[in-house]
Amino acid sequence: MKCPFCSSFDTQVIDSRVSEEGDAIRRRRKCTACDRRFTTYERAELVMPTVVKRNGTRTEFDAAKLRGSLNLALRKRPVNTEDVDAAVARIEENMLTSGLREISSGQLGELVMAELKKLDQVAYVRFASVYQSFEDIGEFIKAIDEFKVPPR
Ligand SMILES: [Zn+2]
Repeated sequence: MKCPFCSSFDTQVIDSRVSEEGDAIRRRRKCTACDRRFTTYERAELVMPTVVKRNGTRTEFDAAKLRGSLNLALRKRPVNTEDVDAAVARIEENMLTSGLREISSGQLGELVMAELKKLDQVAYVRFASVYQSFEDIGEFIKAIDEFKVPPR
């Protein structure tokens, strides 16, 4: 941690304590170069990244919408609801722990495709073939609604 006064990288923690609320750690530091003291706070940061569409507009991540698009891709496929729930949870966790502030709709689509690939090949192909040409999941839902699986 750099000293805010003299920019030296040689600073020491002289005291550490958890805040009253228990959600932060307060550290008292001392710069060994200029001998001045300062305080830092450490907090967990778990922020859902904003989804950036291809046209550059930003939108909040919407788990319900995500689940909707997975369900559409998986329509009439032999996949358990619990498995879909677990896939949605993994995608959310992946986004939360990525540390990213923003994620492109393309990256989000890839996370979805990685999960679908494990769940069901037909659903994966449905999603992959349709999703990649769309701006966002909303458009994908509209399109896949009309998407017909070729008869075997
Ligand atoms: Zn200093």
